[in-house]
Amino acid sequence: MSNESFHNNLPEAVLTIGKICREQDLPAYVIGGYVRDLILNRSSKDIDVVVIGDAIEVATKVAKAIGNTIPVSVFKNFGTAMIKLDDIEIEFVGARKESYSSDSRKPKVFTGTLEDDQNRRDFTINALAISLNKNDFGTLLDPFNGLADIDAKIIRTPLDPIITYSDDPLRMMRAIRFATQLQFTIEKDSLEAISTICERIKIISMERVSDELNKIILSPKPSIGFNLLFETGLLKLIFPEMNNLFGVESIKGKEHKDNFYHTLEVLDNICAHTDNLWLRWAAILHDIAKPPTKRFDPEHGWTFHGHEDKGARMVPGIFRDLKLPLNEKMKYVQKLVLLHLRPIVLAKSEITDSAVRRLLFEAGDDIDDLMKLCSADVTTKNEFKQKKYKANFELVKEKLIEVEEKDNIRNWQPPVTGEMIMETFNLKPCREVGIIKNAIREAILDGHIPNQHEIAFKYMLEKAESLGIQPVK
Ligand code: ATP
Repeated sequence: MSNESFHNNLPEAVLTIGKICREQDLPAYVIGGYVRDLILNRSSKDIDVVVIGDAIEVATKVAKAIGNTIPVSVFKNFGTAMIKLDDIEIEFVGARKESYSSDSRKPKVFTGTLEDDQNRRDFTINALAISLNKNDFGTLLDPFNGLADIDAKIIRTPLDPIITYSDDPLRMMRAIRFATQLQFTIEKDSLEAISTICERIKIISMERVSDELNKIILSPKPSIGFNLLFETGLLKLIFPEMNNLFGVESIKGKEHKDNFYHTLEVLDNICAHTDNLWLRWAAILHDIAKPPTKRFDPEHGWTFHGHEDKGARMVPGIFRDLKLPLNEKMKYVQKLVLLHLRPIVLAKSEITDSAVRRLLFEAGDDIDDLMKLCSADVTTKNEFKQKKYKANFELVKEKLIEVEEKDNIRNWQPPVTGEMIMETFNLKPCREVGIIKNAIREAILDGHIPNQHEIAFKYMLEKAESLGIQPVK
């Protein structure tokens, strides 16, 4: 793209700021991710403007020229300021020069020139700047040939990669994240440098690492990122349980599948059907307990009995280590891991109403997500099997709809509540109330009685009588 076309193609918000900077002779440049995304035609809501001198002063002048209603958020300690134009956030930052020490990713910061500021950027494609100045408005300033790297789809550090990654090891995660989001290749020396100094990731807080990991997971094809994390040695350091999925063992000529590559296939599969980060996490974790449950049985070959149960129990520890939320999102992932085999088991055998009711009861509103996970889990290359499984899944889905319409189990509300039981028999909260309540639920799930209040109430009276409990007159 020529400089001229930049001039013409700049979006409204940049033109507005540019006009003011030009008229008032304010030394400013749009820089970094916004410029990269502009060239790549990706939408971007954050504009970074680097100012030679006082960023707060420039932001205030720009806001004033746009109109008095535009508020300026000033961060005095950092010498930065932010204004919002429609839904675009524009951050003004003074040009900086940085100097790093070996034990921290927090550099000493000095005032610098535009070149200093471009030198401290992580990748050539992130060091591009567009001038907003009077004499060269719209000119692309590209000291490291970032434009050529965008064309060639290459992630490359502006300076020696060992120094760049060692200064701030989070950049290793960022390199892999950009390679995954943009489907770019990490340049060879850069990739080697990451492998060489991967251990330095340990000085980075897990929150920041997970932020990048989640961006990888939210990309269109996350396997790109996980393969790179694995090959460079980073995965073993940040997420050892997933690294352990790698490998194939063979005994007496019998092999099991490589669970690392299987998991990546399931993850890529599910990405075509959901943007939900936590459903994607469920795909990552569905077989996480296969290594610790693996056994070789001379008769049946490799087994992974109970991996769904153990996997669900591993979820909280993994979420804690990765500093992911320990709330209902974690519980949702845990539930899907626990139930991930159930629709498959159903699809393999004769589908009874009671099995379908139990699945609806346990999965509740997450049943559709569970079905998505199970479909994504079918990775067989055998076309015959593939077709058979998919057809059986359709049957399970139909059956789920049919039973749900009939029995209303998905958002289960007991037709006879604990309070009703206590009132009928004049009981305080006690074990017997629980026994009667469970018996009603089981009878409904097993199909002995329908999910209706009157019949359930009658069943309650019978059950109570068998326990020697009489209703109050
Ligand atoms: P995102 O997709 O997260 O918005 P981005 O690169 O566009 O990615 P930021 O992460 O906010 O946005 O970073 C803005 C710019 O700041 C980057 O383009 C890059 O020039 C610079 N930058 C950010 N983090 C680093 C870092 N760790 N080391 C060097 N430069 C960085």
